[in-house]
Amino acid sequence: MIPTASAYSAAMSEIAPSISNPSTEQPLTGPAKPVAVEAAQPGSRSGKPVHRYSVEGGKEGQVDVMHGDARREIKVLDHGFVALVDAMPRLVPTGQTADQAIVQAARVSYGHGTKQVSEDRGLIRYLLRHRHTTPFEMVEFKFHIAMPIFIARQWIRHRTANVNEYSGRYSVMPDKFYRPTMEQVRKQSSANRQGGEQTFDTGGGGDEAATAEAFIQFLADSEKLYERYIGLTEKGVSRELARIGLPVSLYTQWYWKIDLHNLLHFLSLRMDAHAQEEIQLYSRAMYDLIQPIVPVTMEAWHDYALESLRLTRLEIEAVKDAAAGGSGNLKCDNKREQAEWAAKRAKLGL
Ligand SMILES: Cc1cc2nc3c(=O)[nH]c(=O)nc-3n(C[C@H](O)[C@H](O)[C@H](O)COP(=O)(O)OP(=O)(O)OC[C@H]3O[C@@H](n4cnc5c(N)ncnc54)[C@H](O)[C@@H]3O)c2cc1C
Repeated sequence: MIPTASAYSAAMSEIAPSISNPSTEQPLTGPAKPVAVEAAQPGSRSGKPVHRYSVEGGKEGQVDVMHGDARREIKVLDHGFVALVDAMPRLVPTGQTADQAIVQAARVSYGHGTKQVSEDRGLIRYLLRHRHTTPFEMVEFKFHIAMPIFIARQWIRHRTANVNEYSGRYSVMPDKFYRPTMEQVRKQSSANRQGGEQTFDTGGGGDEAATAEAFIQFLADSEKLYERYIGLTEKGVSRELARIGLPVSLYTQWYWKIDLHNLLHFLSLRMDAHAQEEIQLYSRAMYDLIQPIVPVTMEAWHDYALESLRLTRLEIEAVKDAAAGGSGNLKCDNKREQAEWAAKRAKLGL
């Protein structure tokens, strides 16, 4: 039986809270209470719990990196969210963070010994600086994300995650559409064919305001197709076909699991100013969710990746030229390379 439109109108908000971490009955937010997380004895046929770990302290002096939260959610755009729903490792020794799993993996050949936290930090920074990446694959994060389909299309290009998406064949799509405000409507960038940077001047009520308003109306018109979509599914058109007339501003959602190495790659590309603004907002939310769990790694990533600068051979020659009192110009005719060098020069203060 096909559910009615109204039954699905609040589906996005209903789906989210129904998903919780099965290992704990903690409230979704708020401070952790010392409830027990039960683990069955390895190899036990009965499956009866034999150990009880506190999420705060723990029998072995362990702490839950999510402090007992089953879900940590940040709202993004008008109806979207990024929720962290699980992490590996989940339990770490008291006083440590999930960075510890990276150090543990890196030291496997030497034995973990009794290294100081400061040495661990140095090791993580060394690993990241020298792109010894596999230890970072020992940490994993699972997210539940709701985003417009046009963002999902960009997101799915990152092939190193495990994905499970809401099925528009199996279920009716919820009527949630991304609609920016008039003030958020961006103009086509003249410098970057893929970009939209400046917003329209909506204050004066002139041509620019009218254009921004026309765009918002265009989106509103496309959203009206939803009622026809529902009507056609109710008349028996398959959901897998009926959905193809819906706009890509429609929200979808998925579970997305990825290791830290590949997540850092994703964040490097999608927190970058060249990425579309909407996906930048999602990646910043992901950053905010994982930063407290792997703070040492994220600090190193800031220093050696996000805030770093890669120089080409020609650019290094230009730096040398500037240092020797020359113009520091790039010996290259390509206009785009020239512009990129100008931006890097400004960043370097040359
Ligand atoms: C600003 C921006 C603009 C973009 N514009 C466009 C565009 O116009 N058109 C377009 O089609 N895409 C575009 N993309 C997508 C881009 O080309 C990549 O597909 C996307 O960023 C995923 O990057 P990735 O392949 O490195 O990531 P992942 O798929 O996560 O892969 C991570 C790494 O694993 C390795 N890897 C994964 N799979 C394979 C494989 N099959 N073979 C070999 N190595 C593999 C690679 O080293 C890769 O870097 C754009 C991306 C950005 C950030």
